[in-house]
Amino acid sequence: MKTYPLYLNGEFVWTSKSLPVTNPATNEAFVNYSVVDRVRVAQAVKDAQAAFDSWRKLTAKARGEFLHKIANELEKRRDEIARTITMENGKPLAQSVGEVGMTVDHLHWFAEEGRRAYGRMIPHQTDGKRNMVIKTPIGVVAAIAPWNFPLVLAIRKVAPALAAGCTVILKPASATPISCMLFAEACQAVGLPKGVFQVVAGKASEIAAEFLENPLVRKITFTGSTEVGKSLVAGAAASLKPLSLELGGLNPVLVFDDADLDKAVEGTMMAKFRNTGQSCIAANRIYVQSGIYDKFTKAFVEKAKALKTGDGFEQGVEIGAMIDENAVKKAAEHVEDAVKRGAKLLCGGKRLDRKGYFFEPTVLTDVPADSLCMGEETFAPVAAITKFETEQEGIDKANASQFGLSAYVFTRDLSRTFRLAENIEAGMIGVNDGLPTTTNAPFGGVKQSGWGRELGSEGLDAFLETKHISIAV
Ligand code: NAP
Repeated sequence: MKTYPLYLNGEFVWTSKSLPVTNPATNEAFVNYSVVDRVRVAQAVKDAQAAFDSWRKLTAKARGEFLHKIANELEKRRDEIARTITMENGKPLAQSVGEVGMTVDHLHWFAEEGRRAYGRMIPHQTDGKRNMVIKTPIGVVAAIAPWNFPLVLAIRKVAPALAAGCTVILKPASATPISCMLFAEACQAVGLPKGVFQVVAGKASEIAAEFLENPLVRKITFTGSTEVGKSLVAGAAASLKPLSLELGGLNPVLVFDDADLDKAVEGTMMAKFRNTGQSCIAANRIYVQSGIYDKFTKAFVEKAKALKTGDGFEQGVEIGAMIDENAVKKAAEHVEDAVKRGAKLLCGGKRLDRKGYFFEPTVLTDVPADSLCMGEETFAPVAAITKFETEQEGIDKANASQFGLSAYVFTRDLSRTFRLAENIEAGMIGVNDGLPTTTNAPFGGVKQSGWGRELGSEGLDAFLETKHISIAV
C-alpha cells in the first residue's frame, strides 16, 4: 500500500511512523500517510517563520500569481483529486468534483483579493500630524481542518492566509489527509518557495499544543467541532493567541405557507442531504408552517425516497458513505430517540445491510422539541420536520439554540424576508436558497458556532493586522 509523505519545508518527507486511511464505503484501508511528533512540528514552525520574511515582502500580485498557478494545477488534476476525496471521505464523486471546483475558485478569488488589502488615510484632527492605516500579514498561521470537506475547508484557510502574506502549516483531519497532500504536490509543482506552505499530521492534541504554545505561531484557524473549538479557546488563554473558529451548527429551516412549494422542497433537500447530511450548514431542524405542512412533507418524502444511496463511485449516487461507525450509530440513535418520543418515521431509519458506513435517507415528522435531533447536530441524512403556526413562533424556534451558523427561509413575502433576515440569529441565511455558500461572501457563525468569518473580503482580513501610523509632518 502506498504511503504518502508529509510536506515539510519544500520537501516530501516520509517518517518512521505512518497511519492508514480507510475508505468508508468499504471499511478497507487503501493508503497510509506519514505522521510526526511535536518536535518536528516545532521545526516546521521555525521553517515557516524563516519563509515568512521573504514571502511577506513579495508583492500581493506576485503571491497571487502563485495561487493562480496552484489553482490551474488542481484543475489539471481535478479528476484524480476528486477520486481521492471520494475514497477518503465517501461522498458521491460528482460532489467531490464540485469540491475541487470550489477550491479552485477560492484560490483564484483570493489571488486577486490579496491585491485589495487596502489601508486608508484618515483626515487628521491634530495640526502637523497625518494618520495612516496599513494592513500587514499576521505571521505564521496554523490551520486545523475537518474531514467533511477535506480539501475545500482547508484551502478556505490556506488561500487567504497565503494571499495576505502569511505562511501556513496545515493539519488536515486524520480520516482524510490525502487530498491535502495532493494540494501540497500542486504547491511544489508550481515552485512555491519552501516553508511557505507545509502539511503536518499526527496526534491532534500534540500538534495543537505546539500551535498554541509556540510564540512564533501568530494565529490558529480551526474548523471542526464546538467541543474542540472550546478546548482551543482554553488553550489560547495564556498567550491570547488569536483564533478563528468555524464550529458546529443546529441549523433551522422555516418554510412558510406562502413559499413556492417546489423551491422549498428542492432547497430543503439540498440543505439537508448534500454531503450525506455531514455538512456544518446542514439543515438540522425543519419547521414548516401548518398551512403547507402536509403538502411539503408529502413532496419531501417522495424526493427523499428517490435518493440513490451507495458507493460514491457508482453512477447516479446522491447519498454516499458516512465517515465512520460512530457517525452511523449517532444517526440511528437520533432516529430511535425521536420515534420513542412520538415522531413519525416516514422513510429510511436504518443503516444499509452492506459493508461500509451507509445510512438510509430518513424523514421524521412531528418531531418533538426535546428530541436529540432537535437539540444536537445530527450530521447525517436524517431530516427532522415539525410544525409551526405564526411567524414569531418560527423565529423563536429558529433562535432557540446555542448555535447560529446558517438558517434557511422559504417565503415569497418581501417584507417578511427582511424581518427574518434581521431577527434570525445566524451568520448566514439562505432565502429560498438551500446552498448560500459562495467564495465572495462571508461564511461563519454567531453564538457557539464560532468566531470570525472565512471567504469574502472578511476571509482575507482574518490574516491581516491593522496598523495605525501617526506621522508628524
Ligand atoms: P473535530 O473532531 O473537531 O476535528 C476537526 C479537526 O480538529 C481535525 O483535524 C481533528 O484532528 C482536530 N482535532 C481533534 N482533536 C483536537 C484537539 N484536541 N485539539 C486540536 N485539534 C483537534 O471535528 P470533525 O468531526 O472533524 O468535524 C465535524 C464538526 O466540524 C461538526 O461539528 C461540524 O459542524 C464542524 N464543521 C464546521 C464548519 C464550519 O465552517 N463552521 C465546517 C465543517 C465542519 P483529527 O482528525 O486528527 O482528530
